[in-house]
Amino acid sequence: EKLNRVVVASCTIRTHQPLFREALREAGLNQFLFEMANIRDQCSWVHRQDPALATEKAKDLVAMAVAKVRTHRALHLNPVAVVPRALVIGGGIAGLTAALSLAGQGYETFIVEKGPELGGHLRLLRRSLEGKDLQAFLAATLDKVRRHPLIRVYTRARVEDFSGHQGHFVTTVSLAEAGREHVRRTEKLEHGVVIVATGTEENRPPRYLLGEDARVLTNTDFEQQLSDRPQAAAAYRQVVFIQCVGSRDAERPYCSRVCCSHTLKNALQLKALNPDAAVYVLYRDLRAYGLLEHYYREARARGVIFVAHPDEKPPEVAREDGRLSVRVHDRSLGTDLLLQPDLVVLATGAVVPADVEKLANQL
Ligand code: SF4
Repeated sequence: EKLNRVVVASCTIRTHQPLFREALREAGLNQFLFEMANIRDQCSWVHRQDPALATEKAKDLVAMAVAKVRTHRALHLNPVAVVPRALVIGGGIAGLTAALSLAGQGYETFIVEKGPELGGHLRLLRRSLEGKDLQAFLAATLDKVRRHPLIRVYTRARVEDFSGHQGHFVTTVSLAEAGREHVRRTEKLEHGVVIVATGTEENRPPRYLLGEDARVLTNTDFEQQLSDRPQAAAAYRQVVFIQCVGSRDAERPYCSRVCCSHTLKNALQLKALNPDAAVYVLYRDLRAYGLLEHYYREARARGVIFVAHPDEKPPEVAREDGRLSVRVHDRSLGTDLLLQPDLVVLATGAVVPADVEKLANQL
């Protein structure tokens, strides 16, 4: 028919555009001289109650596609070279795992870490909920990274500049001279992809006497004590965990997803060290994600007492005559409880490192 443009009025471009472009190509027409009017998803399906108006809208959609395709020009696809290297920003366990995966597929990979050492937040943790030795796991991962011939690691390194396009980025990294933080040199890295693995830090909000009283710890602090000084941890008669500290509030409305299971892990380990310790968990709702519910049941079976309090009535922690006291409104009993623990452990959530916003803007 000597057509010079084609409009198809049918369903979504997601499934059918490639098919019709191919048909144009086979007929000897440039594939981009084509337009689709989506009269199914965006018309007949959503207006099924009103066929007459839907028909009018379908005519409009076809008219618009015809008007648009008149302006199309023939385009040609040209292959461009891709730099087969990757940049991973952040040397925590996520960055290390990503780098090992990329290098394992044969791609040279740069890891840029701002701190002096790799390992990130995992360096602070001791064991997983399943009982795995996390420091042994980290050491084994670091060993694989260091020995991999395709991975290059930059520590004390900062991203100074970032430019280029998909397939070919150029990142300028500033590096500290060994032992001299203030003497810096720069290096340009060329890579085709970038993975941002900047991770999170444990929030340490100045609440519930955290930082003021040595008997108030975060879950990470307590995990270290449980593993590094088990005798001290076993001596506690009563320990109170408080959930959602600095999470799910006006300032940080999100759930960090890890702090409930962190509490379950520490509560179970404390019970393993000292089955007689009285352990209370004060919570709004307990979120043991995925299949971790099982550990919540196990903690209950071992005698951990879970106390739900109303969202708008968080527990109160005070020092009275040198002792810690915790007041909480028990939602089930409908009454206030007064606890006098030896230790208060705060389930503080995850926050992004302060300098991540600058990096996000650079990228
Ligand atoms: Fe979410 Fe539990 Fe953490 Fe609260 S303590 S933010 S519910 S994971």
